[in-house]
Amino acid sequence: MTLAPATAFYQDANFVAILYIVAFSLFIYGLSGLTGPRTAVRGNRIAAVGMAVALLATFLIEGMGNWVLIAVGLAIGTVLGVPSARQVKMTAIPQMVALFNGVGGGAVALIAWAEFNETGGYAEEPLTFVIPSLFAAIIGSISFWGSNIAFGKLQEILPGRPIGAGRLQQPINLVLLLVAVAAAVAIAAGQTSGIYIAAVLIAAGLLGIFVVLPIGGADMPVVISLLNAFTGLSAAATGLALDNTALIVAGMIVGASGTILTRLMAEAMNRSIPSIVAGGFGGGAEVAGPGGEEGGTVRATSAADAAIQMAYARQVVIVPGYGMAVAQAQHTVREMADELEKRGVEVKYAIHPVAGRMPGHMNVLLAEADVPYEQLKEMDEINGDFPRTQVALVIGANDVTNPAANTNPDSPIYGMPILNVNESESVIVLKRSMNPGFAGIENELYFDPKTSMLFGDAKESVADIVSELAAL
Ligand code: NDP
Repeated sequence: MTLAPATAFYQDANFVAILYIVAFSLFIYGLSGLTGPRTAVRGNRIAAVGMAVALLATFLIEGMGNWVLIAVGLAIGTVLGVPSARQVKMTAIPQMVALFNGVGGGAVALIAWAEFNETGGYAEEPLTFVIPSLFAAIIGSISFWGSNIAFGKLQEILPGRPIGAGRLQQPINLVLLLVAVAAAVAIAAGQTSGIYIAAVLIAAGLLGIFVVLPIGGADMPVVISLLNAFTGLSAAATGLALDNTALIVAGMIVGASGTILTRLMAEAMNRSIPSIVAGGFGGGAEVAGPGGEEGGTVRATSAADAAIQMAYARQVVIVPGYGMAVAQAQHTVREMADELEKRGVEVKYAIHPVAGRMPGHMNVLLAEADVPYEQLKEMDEINGDFPRTQVALVIGANDVTNPAANTNPDSPIYGMPILNVNESESVIVLKRSMNPGFAGIENELYFDPKTSMLFGDAKESVADIVSELAAL
């Protein structure tokens, strides 16, 4: 009797399939943890364990080799990925996501290229292999180059303002798309020359660059989410070509969640996805002054006056925005809320769905500072409360409070749902200057007679208010 080699059990296709099922279950369970800030970290860890299981299963597939190359790849990825993920500031997460997402798309495009070379230009391959592989090459290349441009804009390596060829932009993009698709069709029809796959990858890459360049910085997080969905779809297509269920399922999860997130962001800004991709909005921040087009007067206040105003209020609604994240003021804000509550003031937080630079940005920051979750009120819930609020304290939020979204049909943000802070009895705005927010437009709230401005870094201003409250 001969014994089967010990490795046979691990290399059994059914065993690998079971490991993949375990990995998907962990992905989905982990993803469900991302629905709330308290369970998000655990959810992320669970999904990471799922990814480790999927990797292990892939290594067990019969025919795997080139272990030195795999080890070098893992080492480079770990050395680059771990420190950058640990050191990245919360406000820079969108560009980090853009970079990581781009790498995914690039990997998918490279796999298609490698498969093309390996199989002699797909000479003997069935169309069920060739079509998904070419789809992955096009979408992966768009995603890689588009994500790099998005990264460059958010990191301010490239200007945030829209850069485009005006009326020629759409025809240029159309030609590039046609070149990529025509070269792909030629390959599917039997052309095996490397020039064709190069044409697919280069035309799709240029398309990715030319689609993202004319989009303004303000829309970049939505674009990143859209490109993320693209990367997921291209990975799923690669999975179909290589008959790898792990890639199909993981790719579809990324594709579906990226699509849902893109829609949610676009809805919260009241913009359509085609209008965002058509570009031209935001990013060209102009400096507005008190005597600007509004021609109004701006009233400055002091920490001492702000403290008195809030200490004698029944209800204070804190409206956090991107500036609170930049200043990292969340812990000091929590201290201030504690001081106010000690004096019997009711404190609530108004959370706009796109405050900050990523969905859930404010929830994450406030959870970090242990702000009780019940005090965080979604926009629809809190908007009815502003008329009963004595002080709305706006901390580094701008666009999400701009009344022009309700009143000025010519404003680029007209129709975007906002927090109606101007309905409160008084408004105090904490920011450093009269500079506009992400959309690059003036905020008429600052010229409202019931608004006063406390200029300075949000963390320092809130700390001053805390000292004044303690001294009252
Ligand atoms: P904004 O970008 O409109 O405004 C932030 C304000 O914070 C600025 O006006 C700035 O003024 C102030 N600020 C910056 N640093 C500091 C600091 N250290 N201390 C005090 N204030 C500071 O932010 P919002 O949160 O109101 O709006 C988010 C914007 O991002 C919207 O336009 C939204 O559409 C867009 N967006 C958000 C997405 C998301 O998912 N969250 C996705 C896509 C777009 P100053 O320089 O004078 O200090």
